[in-house]
Amino acid sequence: MSDSPLLELDAVSKRFAIRGGIAGSVRGHVNAVRQVNLTVQRGEVFGLAGESGSGKSTIARMIVGLLPPDGGTLRFAGRPVVQSRAIQMVFQNPGASLNPRRSIGQSLSVALAAAGVARAARRHRIADLLGLVQLPADTALRYPHELSGGQKQRVAIARAIAVAPRLLVLDEPTSALDVSVQAKIMELLVELGRSLGLTYIFISHDLSLMRNFADRVGVLYLGEVVEIGTTEALFGRPAHPYTRTLLASIPVVSAAEARLRPDIPLIEGEVPNAADLPSGCVFHPRCPYAFAPCTDQHPAFTRAEAGQTARCHLLAGDAASVHDMTTREQPA
Ligand code: SF4
Repeated sequence: MSDSPLLELDAVSKRFAIRGGIAGSVRGHVNAVRQVNLTVQRGEVFGLAGESGSGKSTIARMIVGLLPPDGGTLRFAGRPVVQSRAIQMVFQNPGASLNPRRSIGQSLSVALAAAGVARAARRHRIADLLGLVQLPADTALRYPHELSGGQKQRVAIARAIAVAPRLLVLDEPTSALDVSVQAKIMELLVELGRSLGLTYIFISHDLSLMRNFADRVGVLYLGEVVEIGTTEALFGRPAHPYTRTLLASIPVVSAAEARLRPDIPLIEGEVPNAADLPSGCVFHPRCPYAFAPCTDQHPAFTRAEAGQTARCHLLAGDAASVHDMTTREQPA
């Protein structure tokens, strides 16, 4: 197996025009994604975390070739990303991604035809795919409106893997589902990842799911990656104040979890307008630790721990780390 990354994003940026008035003239731009660098290794589950509007879904659409970047490059297996069978996406709302007038068998057959599977072989292959996503074979005869949300998401996963992809981009794949169904879909994805040798990009605002599922995580704020690390490092010792605020907002169900929760003052103020970004560190208007350089100097990525880097002036030079500033006695 090659050690080179399966996916590489190098200084990827995307902005959208804001139009207004009767003529629809351009009034400005929203910087949806800015200078994003990341690599995803073969077989890895890479999580992209952030609130809505952080740029997660725009990055997802660029990775699957649905949107071109305005700047930078995306490479898959060493080549520029184009729409291809090798990269598939599973969307948040499985109902909207299935054609209501096609039976499940017909939908899967269309995907198999696109993958070059001969008509005579498709019926067997459809039964195999339904088996892989743990649905009964007679699901092929049913229509989307006859299925539950979880069953529809299983079909959407079956359709994505029908074309033998290498990378699956999972865009909030369980957020439209009940909690009990979410866990089963995640278990299924883990199993498929192992058995089919898939690489995943897992996009979610749900950090509890991210912690259980991802190997490494990138945290996005206003279109910029502010921290990347192994799941263990990032959740155990978050280096960026924004990551700490995200982790501090995860609901906890036990005293043990409460002890792991970072101690950080709640952030105040609204997320700034992406059409009018703050100078310096984009998080500075809301950061409880902002200090002199933060208002006008954009922080570079600095190593926090092995395999963990963050964009924060606190990590550079002699500045006290965010951990030093927030250490406290934890309740027993
Ligand atoms: Fe806060 Fe400054 Fe770090 Fe930005 S660079 S996260 S404002 S301490």
